Amino acid sequence: MDKTDIKSMDFGELTEYIVSIGQPAFRAKQLYEWMHIKLASSYEEMSNIPAALKAFLVENTDYTALETVKVQTSREDGTSKYLFKLCDGNLIESVLMHYHHGNSVCISSQAGCRMGCRFCASTIDGLARSLTPSEMLEQIYRIQKNTGERVSNVVIMGSGEPFDNFDNLLRFEKLLTDENGLNISARNLTVSTCGLVPEIYRLADMKPQLTLAVSLHAPNDEMRRRLMPIANKYSISELMEACRYYISKTGRRVTFEYSLVSGENDSEACAKELAGLVKGMNCHINLIPVNPIKERSFRQTKPAAVSHFKSILEKNRVNATVRREMGRDIDGACGQLRKSYMENSVASPYTEA
Ligand code: SAH
Repeated sequence: MDKTDIKSMDFGELTEYIVSIGQPAFRAKQLYEWMHIKLASSYEEMSNIPAALKAFLVENTDYTALETVKVQTSREDGTSKYLFKLCDGNLIESVLMHYHHGNSVCISSQAGCRMGCRFCASTIDGLARSLTPSEMLEQIYRIQKNTGERVSNVVIMGSGEPFDNFDNLLRFEKLLTDENGLNISARNLTVSTCGLVPEIYRLADMKPQLTLAVSLHAPNDEMRRRLMPIANKYSISELMEACRYYISKTGRRVTFEYSLVSGENDSEACAKELAGLVKGMNCHINLIPVNPIKERSFRQTKPAAVSHFKSILEKNRVNATVRREMGRDIDGACGQLRKSYMENSVASPYTEA
C-alpha cells in the first residue's frame, strides 16, 4: 500500500490523521507549520516534534521534498530556471521571474505531457506521470526557501496540462491559498490550459477567483488542428462557449494565449479573424513570439509583425499585450531544460528504466 502523502493533506485531514495515531491535535498544527510555512525539507528539521513521532512519520508517510538538480540564472533579466528531481527520479522544471509587483513562479503540473502541441518541448517524449499536490507545492516552497524571498504569484504554465490532473490541481489550489500555509491569494494564481472543455465547465461551477488562461494559438479550427491535436477533440466554437460560461459564472476576465509562429498563424487575416472571434468577450490576448525548439522548424514572428498583429487587435478594441520574453539565454521555453538535461545525462530516469 502507498504511504500517506503527508504534504498533500489539508489541515483538517492532517489533524484527523495525527489524532488517529494517538497524538495530541496540537502536533498537527506544528507539523503543518513546518511543512507549509517554514518549508522544512525533512522531518529532521522539525525541532519541536518528539523523536518518536518523527520516527513513526518517517516509517509511515511520504514526505515530498524535491531535489534541486540544477539552477540556471539568466544574465539578461535574473530569471532562474530550476530543474528538480522527484523521488522516483522523474525530472520537472520551474521558473522564477522577478517583476516589479513581486516574485512569480511558473510551475509544472505533470512530468512531460500528452497533449502533443507541435511547438512545445514538454510533450515530445509524452507523459511520464502527473504530479501530486505536494510536488506542485514543493516547486514553490524550494524556490522561496532557496531565495529567501516571498513568492507572490504562481502560474501553472510549466510542463504538463493542469486540467489533465484536475483533482490534484484543486487540492494544490486549496493548500496554496490556505491561510495556515503560504496564503497566496487565488487572484494571484493563473492556470493555463490547452482547452479541455469539460474541465473548464467543472472549474467554472466552482466559481474560483484564479485567472484562467486558454492556449488558443489560432483563430480557426483548421489552423488550430495543425498546431494542437486537442483541436481535433474540441472545436473553437465549443471552447469559446465554455470560456463565455466561465466568464459569466466567475465574473473574471479570461486570458487567451496566442503563440505567434512565422508563416503559420501570424498574418493580418489571422489577426482580424481572431478579433472577430473574441469580440465583446471579457478577455485579454497574450501574444507570445514562439520560442523555437530544436526538434521543430517553427520560426519566430519578427518584432514588427508582432506589433502589427497587436495593433490590428487593438483597432478592433481587443485588449492585447506581447509577453516579455524572459530567460531566453537559459532554455526559456517550456520543457527545454528538462529535455536537454535528459538527453545529456546518463543518469536520466528514462535511460535507466
Ligand atoms: N498545457 C498548458 C500549460 C503549459 S504551456 C497549456 O497548453 O496552456 C504554457 C503556454 O506556453 C501555452 O500557451 C503553450 O502553448 C505555450 N508554449 C509552449 N511551448 C512554447 C514555445 N516553444 N513557444 C511559445 N509558447 C509555447
